Amino acid sequence: MKNKILLLLTISFTSVTMWAWGPKGHDVVAEIASRHISKKTAAKIDKILDGKTMVYYSSWMDGIKGLPAYKHTYSWHFLNVDPGLTYETAPLDSRGDVYSKTVAIIDTLKAGGLSHEKEKDLLRFLIHMVGDMHCPMHVGYARDLGGNRVQVMWFDTPTNLHSVWDSKLIESVHNWSYGEWADNIDINDKEKISSITAGDVAMWRDDVLSRVGRCYDAVPQDGRMGYPYINAFTEDVEYMLLVAGLRLSKILDDIYK
Ligand SMILES: [Zn+2]
Repeated sequence: MKNKILLLLTISFTSVTMWAWGPKGHDVVAEIASRHISKKTAAKIDKILDGKTMVYYSSWMDGIKGLPAYKHTYSWHFLNVDPGLTYETAPLDSRGDVYSKTVAIIDTLKAGGLSHEKEKDLLRFLIHMVGDMHCPMHVGYARDLGGNRVQVMWFDTPTNLHSVWDSKLIESVHNWSYGEWADNIDINDKEKISSITAGDVAMWRDDVLSRVGRCYDAVPQDGRMGYPYINAFTEDVEYMLLVAGLRLSKILDDIYK
């Protein structure tokens, strides 16, 4: 595996860093969360977001990345842990990462006493970041910048592994709108939901971290990706989006109950 990555690294480097599920993934996560939050939570969120939906703002955090006022949030979209290490043992970004900042934002929102604008910003961050934390390449290896430096061919298009996971895979797995995604993957089984949302953010982070190696290992030696990869990871994509949505709803109900 190490040789494979090195080989792919030598093919070429990419300067493209997207650091996000594409808009579709974030929309699905926000839509599923909005279907599970309590009425009380929904009413509070509606007020904070000035009547806009969580889906409306699910990718807002990507859009503001270039603005000077939000420069400090750049590293909040991801965390990188090399194989053999854990979140606790890996060198971490001193600017904060998607896990540490998610936990900090939850605490700040729970404490309350925020201005309307501040609370609106933090909620919009949270909606996006819980999605990012459930995208395997957002918690990918540090040595290749979460797959950004793993050059691959997606059918006939040169791209990188990060980009495959951000948008190409999700668009290939099903040709659904975000609403159709939610209709098809959402669940109502209370036992299953409570098992998915049991634990805390650290456990959910480690759940995703435990799935990262397979996403790398399944990249063929020649870097040519297509139907076999789609077939191998269809259930993973569905699982990640579902559990991110359910866990986001749990977080929001905890804050606004
Ligand atoms: Zn992001």
